[in-house]
Amino acid sequence: MSPIPPIDRRQLIQYGGAFLGTSLMATVLGNQIVSNPKVQAQTINQTPQELLNQLMEGNGRFSEQRRLKANQDFNRLTEVAQGQNPFAAILSCADSRVPPEIIFDQGLGDLFICRIAGNVATPQEVGSLEFGTLVLGAKVLMVLGHQGCGAVKAAMDGGELPGQIGSVIKKIDIGSVTDDNSNAASVTMATKANVEHQMAVLKQSSVLSELMAEEKLTIVGAYYNLGSGIVTLL
Ligand SMILES: [Zn+2]
Repeated sequence: MSPIPPIDRRQLIQYGGAFLGTSLMATVLGNQIVSNPKVQAQTINQTPQELLNQLMEGNGRFSEQRRLKANQDFNRLTEVAQGQNPFAAILSCADSRVPPEIIFDQGLGDLFICRIAGNVATPQEVGSLEFGTLVLGAKVLMVLGHQGCGAVKAAMDGGELPGQIGSVIKKIDIGSVTDDNSNAASVTMATKANVEHQMAVLKQSSVLSELMAEEKLTIVGAYYNLGSGIVTLL
């Protein structure tokens, strides 16, 4: 049984159709009404695992300094202006050294990305990622932590923070890691624990868990090494 009432799904489709093109409706309904079959054809017959491999191969190209820089020209821009079908969604840190399109060697219309300090799954991020998967059709959802994450270090530090910074940091969960943040190994462990926690939060979403049950989505955790450029699946 679908936990999503039909009326809600219709409203969601109308929203997608109004703002983002009819290819979205096809993704949700599984019919043949597509505004840009060429874009959709790139992913529609592929499994979540195949698309995860595609994403990781892109990181391999980046870390080995052989980027293709595909889908970054004006032909692609024209193509995706008609409709989008990103194959992967990523919840990553806002850190300036972790731009997903570059480190996964992807281009326009390939990735649906939510970036926020500490890659935390706030209700708003979860909602965005539900949209990117259910409506836009991304079949991979990756939570991406990274080496030397300042937000994780701040969570390990504890204490008061100015403005709204604390509202983000309090969403970070470093599990049972208690060592101080001057120990790089502890920061790494805390970062990975936080990725696992945010994945667990995402899996509480009825929309995402339904997509997983239907084998239309895989949720994975990953860790980015700032020095080597290598992303490792957790
Ligand atoms: Zn970070």
